[in-house]
Amino acid sequence: MELLYDLHTHTIASGHAYSTIMENVRFAHEIGLKAYGFSDHAPALDGSTNELYFVNFRVIPREYKGMKVYAGVEANIMDFDGNLDIGGKIYERVDYIIASLHTLCIEPGSVDENMRAYIGAMSNPYVKIIGHPDDSRYPLDYEELAKQAVKHSVALELNNSSLNPDSVRKGARENILTLLKMCEKYGTYIICGTDAHIYTDIGDFSFAKELLKEAKFPEELVLNTGIKGLKYVINKNKYNKAVFEEEL
Ligand SMILES: [Zn+2]
Ligand SMILES: [Zn+2]
Repeated sequence: MELLYDLHTHTIASGHAYSTIMENVRFAHEIGLKAYGFSDHAPALDGSTNELYFVNFRVIPREYKGMKVYAGVEANIMDFDGNLDIGGKIYERVDYIIASLHTLCIEPGSVDENMRAYIGAMSNPYVKIIGHPDDSRYPLDYEELAKQAVKHSVALELNNSSLNPDSVRKGARENILTLLKMCEKYGTYIICGTDAHIYTDIGDFSFAKELLKEAKFPEELVLNTGIKGLKYVINKNKYNKAVFEEEL
């Protein structure tokens, strides 16, 4: 399975990542990605950047030697209603939004509370990707999550870093296998992201690919296998799943 792009990556602006945008862009191009996106942590995560960083994205060239470049954000879900830590200005300036739960921003809740947090975030018309819903510290009802993602035309992320044995997120492998089963059942799109915090990890989907193979997950539900998959997650207003499939 060839994965053509990586939209979940970080730069030094995140405060705990170690490469610049250009180091990332050049590397992504070098390894042959068709598109590359950076998604720095939104301001509520300790040590990350400020709102203006995202508001000024108009200065970023969106192409490098034929490779598309996207400027996104990994927003923090701040409460169990799914509210994010980004304001109206950022919504208009970023190319895509990944919404994630991080322990530095929100204490894990019950299954019901965590589900409410994700469903609330998905109801935000700008949110296209739910980041790493694979952490046992935030228990979930994966069947309901897969259903709700279809309903809200949102992609669920298969995060390569979560599968790294060093990951702080616990139980990811088992949780992702359950998630994949449910996504197959309901026709939910997934998107692979490396969550690279240094340029050398960009485009390295080795753990994710292995698991997709093990799960015999249908390739057509993996958005990164086709450049058209970008349409589902990159735009300002939500791209309806039915319309997306009609245009495929
Ligand atoms: Zn990070
Ligand atoms: Zn994250």
